[in-house]
Amino acid sequence: MAKLTRAVNVGGVQIGGGARIKIQSMTTTKTSDVQKTLAQIAALEKAGCEIVRVAIADEADALAVREVVDKIKIPLVADIHFSPKLAVMAIENGADKVRINPGNIGGEKEIRFVADCVNAHKIPVRVGANTGSIEKNFLEKYGRSAEALVESAQYNVGILEKFGVQDIVVSVKASDVPLTVQAYTLLAQKTDYPLHVGVTEAGTTEAGIVKSAVGIGALLLNGIGDTIRVSLTDDPVKEIYAAQHILRSCGLEEEYVEVVACPTCGRCAWESMRLAERVTEFVRPYKKRAKIAVMGCVVNGPGEAKDADLGIAGGNGACLIFKKGEPFKKVAAECAEEEFLKEIRLLLDGE
Ligand code: SF4
Repeated sequence: MAKLTRAVNVGGVQIGGGARIKIQSMTTTKTSDVQKTLAQIAALEKAGCEIVRVAIADEADALAVREVVDKIKIPLVADIHFSPKLAVMAIENGADKVRINPGNIGGEKEIRFVADCVNAHKIPVRVGANTGSIEKNFLEKYGRSAEALVESAQYNVGILEKFGVQDIVVSVKASDVPLTVQAYTLLAQKTDYPLHVGVTEAGTTEAGIVKSAVGIGALLLNGIGDTIRVSLTDDPVKEIYAAQHILRSCGLEEEYVEVVACPTCGRCAWESMRLAERVTEFVRPYKKRAKIAVMGCVVNGPGEAKDADLGIAGGNGACLIFKKGEPFKKVAAECAEEEFLKEIRLLLDGE
């Protein structure tokens, strides 16, 4: 059972309050390079990204927010550190949300300056504590621990509340998976603000996906998390695909086409892995519940994938297309891929 959090509106997209979990990513371009930033956001949108974050490192980035938000369909989050002036500029230029840490924005005067702007524009703020940003006093009191992360996040939330900010999303990230899970679990007991969940600095693709899947997955299965970000040192589109797989594996997304493929073994009679990859790419845009199987041999394939709506199994010179485990069509090996894709199109498009 998912924990019910407060609803926060990010440019028309709801986070928390019982809404479906939203997938986020962050651009890797210099935000002021508007063409590159727009191209990357377009690719992210196409992949299924629902909220995009951009880094605001200087005035050119903050000003570029205007041109970017005018040309994209999904909400934009401006990520600012240290500069209240840049935060205000990004908000005035149309950011739908800001990610700041009040602790590094300055003193009361500077925080009030940002909070007043946030309130005037009625946008939410994400406050994120991570192991590198924990204030000295919490580190001294608790060490590098879940308690320190949670206290730091709550302290920063408290500063914003003091200046009247109500729409807040909170995160407590670590690159260490058990610590991340402990911190979010503790935080979820202490707050009803929606939680942005992720494992920070997760790493290069393979390790990053596994760390994120374990950490985010453990939390989601316990009903914790309202929006997720998979952090990878790679093309951010891969973050979106990984996030989708995590949600699906946790049973939180049902309208998609599942592609199952056998691991292959000595009985495998053709290149099933290549076709499985091609089919995966082909069905990606479909928001429909269906199961497609790509199996290595006709001996066991149809039986092993009995529950697939449509499947194919390789044979000697010919392949068998099957439906719910029952033979449907025999096709020559050389045209098997095209025939199978045609059948998938018929199944999914109903043509
Ligand atoms: Fe092996 Fe055939 Fe099973 Fe694939 S379907 S794992 S090739 S027995």
